[in-house]
Amino acid sequence: MQTVLFTSTIFGPIQSRRLGTSLGVNLMPADGKVCSFDCLYCEAGFNAQGTGKAGLPSRKQVAQLLEEKLQSMSRDNAPLDVITFSGNGEPTLHPEFAGVIDDTIALRNRYYPQAKVSVLSNATRINRADVVEALKKVDNNILKLDSAIELTVNTIDRPVDPRYRVADIVEAMKQFDGQCIVQTMLLRGQYNGQLIDNTTDNEVEALIRAVKEINPQAIMLYSIDRKTPAEQLQKVPHDEIVAIGRRFEEEGIAVQAI
Ligand code: SF4
Repeated sequence: MQTVLFTSTIFGPIQSRRLGTSLGVNLMPADGKVCSFDCLYCEAGFNAQGTGKAGLPSRKQVAQLLEEKLQSMSRDNAPLDVITFSGNGEPTLHPEFAGVIDDTIALRNRYYPQAKVSVLSNATRINRADVVEALKKVDNNILKLDSAIELTVNTIDRPVDPRYRVADIVEAMKQFDGQCIVQTMLLRGQYNGQLIDNTTDNEVEALIRAVKEINPQAIMLYSIDRKTPAEQLQKVPHDEIVAIGRRFEEEGIAVQAI
């Protein structure tokens, strides 16, 4: 089974398709995965691999490690576009997430004031006031919504909490007053004999309706780029992603298609 992608708390910098030169922050264990989704395409593997033994890094540890890295990069005049929270699971599950964001913004201001702070989140925790307040402080609040259709989300993203409802998440996303980017992974294939395709007319129309309600800065459309734990998934070709993007643009929604 594929196991964790990131074996440290601070990783990179890496060249990100979406974000530029990106220094990664993994708030989840370095030897396991902790997520409130269990996506078929997760680059960190399935949740079944376990949460590991290392535990979560503390707020203090994250700040120390990040400062050491930023200090050394700054000494070397290394470029940096963005500090990105992603990693082996859902960053907002970290119990000190809000404090970590405050520390990160302070360190960014000190060492790389022009760099952005981005969080890639599956949005399952935006029912918490502290998480919402923290996400409002970052430059790129990137929230996953792979489909506006419940059955599709249950098939692709597999929320751990059976009470997850797309309608609740769409409603909760509205509280950012447009200060968010919706991110959608487009894919096709099958898993355990079940067909998967979130690029059909029905899917795209439902997603457009939901995104219009959320009214984000943009929708980010992308497809698979690396090995996925479910092996029978297919990448959606770039020209198809662009064509789907046009349908959003026709509805007045800005698109970042990659
Ligand atoms: S939300 Fe992100 S980290 Fe969690 S399972 Fe899905 S892709 Fe992986």
